[in-house]
Amino acid sequence: MNILSRLVNLVYPSKCSFCGKLISFQKSGINICSECMDKIKFCASRKRCKVCGTPLGNPRYRFCQSCFRKAKSNICTYYNGITAAVEYDRNSKRGILNLKHARSLSSVNTFSNLITAMVKNDFGGVNFDYITAIPPRRQRMKEIGFDQSGALAKKTAKLLSVKYYPNLFKRIRQTSKQTDLSSFERQQNLNGAFGLKGNSDNIQGKTILVIDDVTTTGATFNECARVLKLSGAKAVYCAAIATTEKNNGDRDSFT
Ligand SMILES: [Zn+2]
Ligand SMILES: [Zn+2]
Repeated sequence: MNILSRLVNLVYPSKCSFCGKLISFQKSGINICSECMDKIKFCASRKRCKVCGTPLGNPRYRFCQSCFRKAKSNICTYYNGITAAVEYDRNSKRGILNLKHARSLSSVNTFSNLITAMVKNDFGGVNFDYITAIPPRRQRMKEIGFDQSGALAKKTAKLLSVKYYPNLFKRIRQTSKQTDLSSFERQQNLNGAFGLKGNSDNIQGKTILVIDDVTTTGATFNECARVLKLSGAKAVYCAAIATTEKNNGDRDSFT
């Protein structure tokens, strides 16, 4: 560690973005302690679903159960790809909750750097015109008052040297919480939930990266991608901090 880093460390001690433990200054911008480094399940090292990018419970398969079912139903996939940095579990959840409630710049930096690394890894050859975010639910904004997906999109855009497009979407109607819904119900719940805030001239033929904090079935990303594609966007990619593994303990059901 050089003198400047030591000084920065002394004045602004870094905290692990997942567990909050004090750590030394991280040049990478990713604040993670060695214990969390071992515990957090990074998606890059896993075999993932060809459609939604979620880690596969069984690496012999090419698709997760949810995408396999969707392919057999009439749900279209509008996005070109989804990527996520880590698996959503007890350990990563702690970090994401901390990001929402503490609103720390350090957490935004950590998670944006993790998202950026995955975007480079999975969509390396893609030239994005804009990076934007899924808009927060009005109720959630009232409760928390912080748009974490917007903050992540802004920082990720800076890290990838792509134009940040704030407030591209608007929520046309408020949706119920997605947590206890099946994959099919989630898509139904979101149908027509989003629209463009301005007119569609700016997105004609554009390639857009949409950011959210957590993706579960990819239903929210798919609905935003549908709006963008139907409004003239050329390609829509999506990235999140965390994704849930859908094969193990799968709750998605069409029955
Ligand atoms: Zn930690
Ligand atoms: Zn999938």
